[in-house]
Amino acid sequence: MNTAGLAGAVKPPITDLSREQLRVLVQELGQPAYRADQVAAWVYRSTATSFDEMSNVPKSLRQALAERCRFAALELQTELLSTDGETRKAVSSLPDGELIESVLMRYPQRWDGTGHERATVCASTQVGCPVKCTFCATGLMGFTRNLSAGEILDQALHFLRWSREHPPIVRNVVFMGMGEPLFNYDATMAAAERLVDPEFAGLGVHRLTVSTSGWLPGLVRLTEDPLEVRLAVSLHAPTDDLRNQLVPLNRRYPLRDLMAACREYQRKTGRRVTFEYTLMDGVNDSPALARALVALLRGLDVHVNLIPMNPVAGIPFAPSPAPAVDAFHDILREHGIICTVRREMGRDIKAACGQLKTEFERQRRRAAAVPAVSA
Ligand code: SF4
Repeated sequence: MNTAGLAGAVKPPITDLSREQLRVLVQELGQPAYRADQVAAWVYRSTATSFDEMSNVPKSLRQALAERCRFAALELQTELLSTDGETRKAVSSLPDGELIESVLMRYPQRWDGTGHERATVCASTQVGCPVKCTFCATGLMGFTRNLSAGEILDQALHFLRWSREHPPIVRNVVFMGMGEPLFNYDATMAAAERLVDPEFAGLGVHRLTVSTSGWLPGLVRLTEDPLEVRLAVSLHAPTDDLRNQLVPLNRRYPLRDLMAACREYQRKTGRRVTFEYTLMDGVNDSPALARALVALLRGLDVHVNLIPMNPVAGIPFAPSPAPAVDAFHDILREHGIICTVRREMGRDIKAACGQLKTEFERQRRRAAAVPAVSA
């Protein structure tokens, strides 16, 4: 990346640089390559939020870096904490004024004392989303642009820094917020690579999950990718008729093709595939559809994540009632499918993807429309 001659232009975030690009930049600035590792340690493995805090890096290098790069890709606009304290949701702005959402979900130890506390970041990969799923607040917005690698990465780093002082530390990142990650393949995988690079954030590669609504060219690439991230599929319906209505991409890549691609991913990687299924009252939550889902997944090693829908203004679907969720869950489990019901996380802070950004924009427009009162 050429960061010279950027006076007046928006400077790229330092997280847009790969390890090699950071080394080259540091050497161009007249410093030995090992300084790049020191800089990376501050950016990726500390709580620092500015170049000034890099106390073991020469001041001249800090100044030169600040002239060429921004430390952060995002500017935090608002952050909400759910009443149970387990979900934090951030709305951040980008230099072009666009807004994106990211979420931190913290899971306590199980009630019987087993398992570990853990923290997962859900990161957006696009501003808006072109897939336009009919139950999704982000789908309502349409698509604006792809995020850069740094813009994706900084969402995880924001919560990673915060969690260093508020454990459990973030160990898991899911590319599943606003947008279809496989439509923005290169930037998403570059962000993933920097998260697992031991010289950068150093997370475990199997702690990263890429979620797709079924973009098969991207899924084929992911299957071949040397970076062994996990796969989640936003399924939401077990029949083409219903999925065509909920996830329009299904008309292009129907279930038969999607499932064949998932089988191929599993054959090549040996990894379990997660299927996300948002339960909507009277839409996709019947016992007959649960049995259809069992049939669809037969022969695959899967984990099904049932997600009670978060109600969204302007979207004509409602969450399934608890008895319907339980009945659906029971049918899957009776057929030996590993299945969990996601806790209703952060409903009080508009946790469905796209909801908080929409609300924040509405408030911003309202504030802008209020005439200034002169003293
Ligand atoms: S559910 Fe995901 S893929 Fe579908 S519109 Fe929303 S963000 Fe896009």
